[in-house]
Amino acid sequence: MAFDYDLFVIGGGSGGVRAARLAAAEAGARVGLAEADRMGGTCVIRGCVPKKLMVYASSFREALREAADYGWSVAAGGFDWPRFRSRLHAELDRLERAYRDTLARAGVTVHDARAELEDPHTVRLATGERFRARHILLATGGRPDVPAREGAELGITSDEVFLLDRLPESMLIVGGGYIASEMACILNGLGVAVTQFYRGAQILRGFDDEARGHIAGTMREDGIDLRVGTEVLELAREGAGIRVRGSDGSDRVYGALLWATGRRPNTDGLGLEAAGVRLGRRGEVVVDRYSQTNVPSVYAVGDVTNRLQLTPVAIREAAAFVETVFHGRPTAFDHSLVPGAVFTQPEYGYVGLTEEEAREREPVEVYVTSFRPMRTAFIGRSERALMKLIVSRASRRVLGCHIVAPEAGEMIQLAAVAIGMGATKEQFDATCAVHPTLAEELVTMRAPVRTA
Ligand code: NDP
Repeated sequence: MAFDYDLFVIGGGSGGVRAARLAAAEAGARVGLAEADRMGGTCVIRGCVPKKLMVYASSFREALREAADYGWSVAAGGFDWPRFRSRLHAELDRLERAYRDTLARAGVTVHDARAELEDPHTVRLATGERFRARHILLATGGRPDVPAREGAELGITSDEVFLLDRLPESMLIVGGGYIASEMACILNGLGVAVTQFYRGAQILRGFDDEARGHIAGTMREDGIDLRVGTEVLELAREGAGIRVRGSDGSDRVYGALLWATGRRPNTDGLGLEAAGVRLGRRGEVVVDRYSQTNVPSVYAVGDVTNRLQLTPVAIREAAAFVETVFHGRPTAFDHSLVPGAVFTQPEYGYVGLTEEEAREREPVEVYVTSFRPMRTAFIGRSERALMKLIVSRASRRVLGCHIVAPEAGEMIQLAAVAIGMGATKEQFDATCAVHPTLAEELVTMRAPVRTA
């Protein structure tokens, strides 16, 4: 059977681009890639990258206050959102061009069109073109999931935050996950009066309880009106704003509302039924550990599979796919021990088990320290950093590490190397401290605060 391509990738985000590039440049495969929107996907265009730049932008308000307390004469003007936004979009344009250049250099043929499957080996583009491919990789990512309710269209999602013409004076953020909590901190830092509704008892469900409580406390101290156990009962347009009645009895008008209520896999209209590809309960493509679907020629990586919705994970799944399919070395990415960071302010870096998960599995010792960082304690701030290690009593291995502190994302990356290698608590202790730093606390916690 003649194929036009060895690999056809649908979706030009982190996973799709990496797979296309590696298959073409390193395995010599003939590769086509279709992207209906901007190249770079969620991470580059409307996720991690613009978000992190907004984290930086928003951190200067506090930094300027700190500078004044350290003795600098500081006259802070207001934050110029349009100026920041145009610089942000210039940067995103540059990154998009870089992605396109990389694909072109690797010899990948890019089709700027929507694609869908016609059968297990055929892709049809919106342009009407058809291609036959030996292998097809689905890397279509996900999109914000907005509750199906009256008035939902009055709110925006994280996709639109980066496109706002102006920042509202006040905003209601609905949700308690990564995006809701990060956006609450960012917008608060940029001077927006932020209210956050979370339906459960504590934000960041699934993360370490102590870290969650610490972050929520700091967010409140920083001025975010965080209301847990609270849902939107009614919402309606009122003037330029949105009137919201909350289940906590609140009734007020917000300048804008952000739904940060989760994301869903992009599997609609992809022709997956025609090709016989099996979907899961949340509409995700079901794959095995090699990212292969029930249709042998069709694979899927990244958010569309709803495993761990993280850019580096999509990239590693893509690389493993290329190893398996184009180099003949069956390779499965190990989803355990994936470190990560939530870019709240302060940041939260994590790797391994939460205390709650670890206790369920085996007897553990828990080491915790909570302290005022030197930089801010010096100027009388009350904010605290939290560091926590969860240690197996039997093997002495560090099973989990949780850090809530400035630059926690940077610290956890390195802690993850040691923990991934199976480091024991005694090996942490044997490592000489770097002084004076925040991270030295990770190697100087002597006695467990509790055992379980
Ligand atoms: P999450 O799944 O993290 O959070 C969704 C939140 O919305 C939860 O608090 C959930 O509540 C709540 N929710 C869901 N449905 C409703 C509803 N109908 N009404 C009210 N609340 C609701 O999703 P996000 O969109 O925040 O992020 C998606 C994924 O993207 C993350 O899981 C993460 O993998 C990735 N991401 C990673 C980042 C990073 O690495 N720093 C940053 C941003 C995103 P409940 O807890 O009760 O279910």
